[in-house]
Amino acid sequence: MSSDICKNLNEIRSEIDDNIQLVAVSKTKPVEAIKEAYDCGQRDFGENKVQEMRDKYPVLPSDIRWHLIGHLQRNKVKYIAPYVHLIHSVDNLKLLREINKQALKNKRIIPVLLQIKIAQEDTKYGMSFEEAEELLHSSELDELPNIKISGLMGMATNTPDAAQRKKEFHSLKLFFDKLKKQFPDFTYLSMGMSGDYPLAIEEGSNMIRVGSKIFGERKYT
Ligand SMILES: *Cc1c(COP(=O)(O)O)cnc(C)c1O
Repeated sequence: MSSDICKNLNEIRSEIDDNIQLVAVSKTKPVEAIKEAYDCGQRDFGENKVQEMRDKYPVLPSDIRWHLIGHLQRNKVKYIAPYVHLIHSVDNLKLLREINKQALKNKRIIPVLLQIKIAQEDTKYGMSFEEAEELLHSSELDELPNIKISGLMGMATNTPDAAQRKKEFHSLKLFFDKLKKQFPDFTYLSMGMSGDYPLAIEEGSNMIRVGSKIFGERKYT
């Protein structure tokens, strides 16, 4: 059975500008699906679980850029530190310290994004604007030369209310622009998923994380 993965990718590509990075979110999807996307030219893939990334990494082409987009526990950083391309989900200093430690062991500088909580939902993860600013101005960061804070990631409320989501994306873009003036490494604003990436791009996203619109609905068993 032929799949629509390449067709879906090309459709999304036709909608977005070249300066917007598309991360194909392959969580729960088999290696064969990732290969199809790879053969269609896709190189950036996002996983939300360390174990799944560990399973997929060794059996797929080595020029894939792996993005960790889900919650990351400190004791699991070591497994992905040798190769992870960008960690989108950093929300505390302790985790940054561990990433720095493992990056040093691997003689790398690991780029990370700070995850900011913009949704009006009881999600456990993500920092407030105030917490992020406090972290960015912390003198401790000077002691973490093997991480590079490259921008922000956020998820809007899962609501049919587009005005609400627009407002949330907009607030994150304003915060990003403010920080970008002070922190020259700030490059990526990761926001937008299958259901809302056109809105996120309108509001200034330059990195979108799209899963089901490329690979089809996920089945959780
Ligand atoms: C699953 C996931 C996505 C992709 O979701 P879709 O709605 O399938 O596009 C994006 N970002 C994060 C953090 C995710 O966990």
